[in-house]
Amino acid sequence: MARKMLVDEEMNQTNQEEAYYDFDLFVIGAGSGGVRAARFSANYGAKVGICELPFHPISSEVIGGVGGTCVIRGCVPKKILVYGAAFGSELEDARNYGWELNEKLDFNWKKLLHKKTDEIIRLNGIYKRLLSNAGVKLFEGEGKIVGPNEVEVTQLDGTKLSYSAKHILIATGSRAHRPPIPGQGLGITSDEALSLEDLPKHAVVFGGGYIAVEFASIWRGLGANVDLFFRKELPLRGFDDEMRAVVARNLEGRGINLHPQTNLTELIKTDNGIKVTTDHGEELIADVVLFATGRLPNSKRLNLEAVGVELDNTGAVKVDEYSRTSIPSIWAVGDVTNRMNLTPVALMEGTCFAKTVFGKEPSKPDYSHVPCAVFSIPPLSVVGLSEEQAIEQANGDVLVFTSTFNPMKNTVSGYDDDFEMLLHRKINK
Ligand code: FAD
Repeated sequence: MARKMLVDEEMNQTNQEEAYYDFDLFVIGAGSGGVRAARFSANYGAKVGICELPFHPISSEVIGGVGGTCVIRGCVPKKILVYGAAFGSELEDARNYGWELNEKLDFNWKKLLHKKTDEIIRLNGIYKRLLSNAGVKLFEGEGKIVGPNEVEVTQLDGTKLSYSAKHILIATGSRAHRPPIPGQGLGITSDEALSLEDLPKHAVVFGGGYIAVEFASIWRGLGANVDLFFRKELPLRGFDDEMRAVVARNLEGRGINLHPQTNLTELIKTDNGIKVTTDHGEELIADVVLFATGRLPNSKRLNLEAVGVELDNTGAVKVDEYSRTSIPSIWAVGDVTNRMNLTPVALMEGTCFAKTVFGKEPSKPDYSHVPCAVFSIPPLSVVGLSEEQAIEQANGDVLVFTSTFNPMKNTVSGYDDDFEMLLHRKINK
């Protein structure tokens, strides 16, 4: 093992204790939260190192890439595909608005896929530059914690580097998991769904969260037959019930077959495709089956239990309001803590961490009023409490204002999507 101590001039610290460490901060994971925390800490004058797995659009325990899930296999590529898919109905609409287009509209999936890949490669480069411009030292390899102030990075060639740091930040995110059903290996996760060689003709999506709803919308928008299976009565658990019903009606209106309160029980490979069986005894054949049934914190390979960092029963790192773990020198932000798994939230947690630890300004992330969008076609956006949360928290009545409307654009194009605005107001007595 190569032990590498930084003893250059710039490390000459006045403070004896700080002079002992290679870094003031070592971050494991260069996704949304890790990059933000690293850059902001460096801007406060901290000496920062960060490690990240090698780049690839499809992640694994040993593959990732600077930029993380959002940039490489989440928000960004997904949004590019949503834009691509939305053109289908826009172009049809255009005819109603007087545009004379050829009878048949051709769509080139491979071209969209290449554009998407070019963009994530560009962003990966930008994130690397952001780190180097801030003076953060980037290591390519798998990080693991070996002590309260000690990290080890295994590089691609197997060489292990070891560094000491006054603070360690875990920012390793989360990964999709597959439900334990027979034939699960025949299904894909969102990683592969964003890089499919061929556009599916018939896709089955299993899951009721925003990722499931968004992929169902993308594939339907691009012309595939889509069956969406979920366990609850409505998709998007956790969102306002009334809005969930609106989204469900709109998905059906766009031609997606909804299968509420249904589980997939088995996948079998056949000559015609993948045979999907449900707990209602239904059987259908699809060429792609997407599992969008949840994500698990990336905490397994970090050696956390051995150093005394406490995890909850899902494997999420337990932290206090300042993102500090059960070991005072070790902190965690983002999806690995499973608080609110969204990019702007990971950024906020990273910012608060840097302010607290290096900015002399203790700052707690504020999870109230986080705006959130679901890029279904048409989309949904929310901010604040759902009606159910408002009722639970109100110390009195809850006033609910709703307004349904038909956008003027649809009067000409003929789409009958439901559009609704909803406002809740708590009355605190
Ligand atoms: P990540 O961004 O996942 O970064 C963690 C990094 O750590 C990864 O790069 C990983 O490779 C690396 N890593 C893991 N283990 C190690 C190790 N041992 N050593 C070194 N590096 C390691 N959020 C939104 O706000 N809006 C959206 O529209 C949205 N869409 C999404 C769509 C999809 C399909 C998915 C999957 C997610 C989406 N998200 C969206 C969620 C968002 O991507 C995450 O909440 C966000 O990326 C979390 O940031 P993070 O820093 O915690 O983790």
